[in-house]
Amino acid sequence: MCGIIGISSDKDISKELYYGLYSLQHRGQESCGIAVLNEDNNINYHRGMGLVSDVLKEKELSNLKGHTGIGHVRYSTSGGSHLSNCQPLAGVCRRKKLSIAHNGNLVNHDYLRQTLEEEGFMFQTSIDSEVILYILSRYYKGSIIDSVKIAMDYIKGAYSLVILSEEGLVAVRDPHGFRPLVLGKKGDKYIVSSESCSIEILGGEVIRDIEPGEIVLINNGEVKSYNYRDNYKEKQKTCIFEHVYFARNDAIIDKVNAYEFRVKSGQILAQEDDIEADIVIPVPDSGIPGALGYNKESKIPLKEGLVKNRYVGRTFIKPTQSEREIGVKLKLNPLTSVVKGKSIVLIDDSIVRGTTSKILIDSLKKAGAKEVHLRITSPPVKYSCYFGIDTPKRSQLIASKNSVEDIRKEIGADSLKFLSTDALMKAADFKNIFCMACFNGNYPIKPMVEED
Ligand code: AMP
Repeated sequence: MCGIIGISSDKDISKELYYGLYSLQHRGQESCGIAVLNEDNNINYHRGMGLVSDVLKEKELSNLKGHTGIGHVRYSTSGGSHLSNCQPLAGVCRRKKLSIAHNGNLVNHDYLRQTLEEEGFMFQTSIDSEVILYILSRYYKGSIIDSVKIAMDYIKGAYSLVILSEEGLVAVRDPHGFRPLVLGKKGDKYIVSSESCSIEILGGEVIRDIEPGEIVLINNGEVKSYNYRDNYKEKQKTCIFEHVYFARNDAIIDKVNAYEFRVKSGQILAQEDDIEADIVIPVPDSGIPGALGYNKESKIPLKEGLVKNRYVGRTFIKPTQSEREIGVKLKLNPLTSVVKGKSIVLIDDSIVRGTTSKILIDSLKKAGAKEVHLRITSPPVKYSCYFGIDTPKRSQLIASKNSVEDIRKEIGADSLKFLSTDALMKAADFKNIFCMACFNGNYPIKPMVEED
């Protein structure tokens, strides 16, 4: 769960990198950074803990003049939340400068790191992305494309990468295409970004998704595309959770429109439902498109019944359960005048630990709701993700050991329904391109160690 961007131009692009990164803020709020290649072929960078607007101020940007650059926003799924783990990472290898930004998770990074450490490499971070930087430099013999191909033989798992090199800007998507990566253009500039919103916000046009297993080199206004291996055709496995929750509503990933997908999921939930209720209430923001779909199909009036405090960040990643609980209370509060005496269909996109739904149902009941029927626009999350989505250890996933009825009792809902995996496929127009391991346990790459 991170966001990456790269821009190649012949003019200064630091401001555009900043705005592009700003548009990816939802993909990570812990830290961020920008690296640029300047006219003297030097890489300058600035990284820090916090939001894009806090870390990259005018002063920092004025020191980051360059015609090609990359940026990163981080939400840690590998390695702790420290300054040393911020990206982009940068280094010099055989007098060539290199910088990378990574979205995804490698499943074999412990093994690779140990091997590199035995060879004498000294690591400065605890993140898997550093392994990629070192493998790139270890096998660099004058061509960045060749060393990327060799690195791809070693690294296993999820990686969308932007690499800043003296040969130009390189964009890479792993052979399964777990995490998104989009190519766009504005005038003479090329932009690659985790999501299309950055390209649109910068006034550019989306060209296409980078394909799974594709390596793109952009230099001097030219785009060259390479395949990881000519005979290598792995089945695409885009992460379905990007569409369920993670990506912005305006994202189109691998030709699937996230917003339409979400609305349709809500519609299908309503088609499969026969509950009689007074109002439909979304859990803002992630439940809104699903609730619109549910309302459209069921004709039950849609109401805003929860007020969201926009200044509270991610409660989900707080380290302790009590912090997560107070976080949800601070973030969402019922509108008593709307919910009092009403039978409610409450719509959210997912249940992970069950913290959010339990607290919301309790507070809606305290505000006088007569009944709360919880409807979730995805199947129960039963398995941990090893490819970059922050779903915790299986033992913490409420659906890993409990039946739907047990979950209903635990969270205090009057009734509870999830979308089935078949219905989820229907919402995605039956495109057979998704990793749904968090729902069905079918891991496209077997994790080296599965967590309890
Ligand atoms: P939980 O409270 O643990 O059941 O988490 C479910 C809530 O957190 C839902 O409201 C989701 O919109 C949101 N959510 C689901 N997955 C994630 C994630 N990986 N990171 C942050 N929030 C999430």
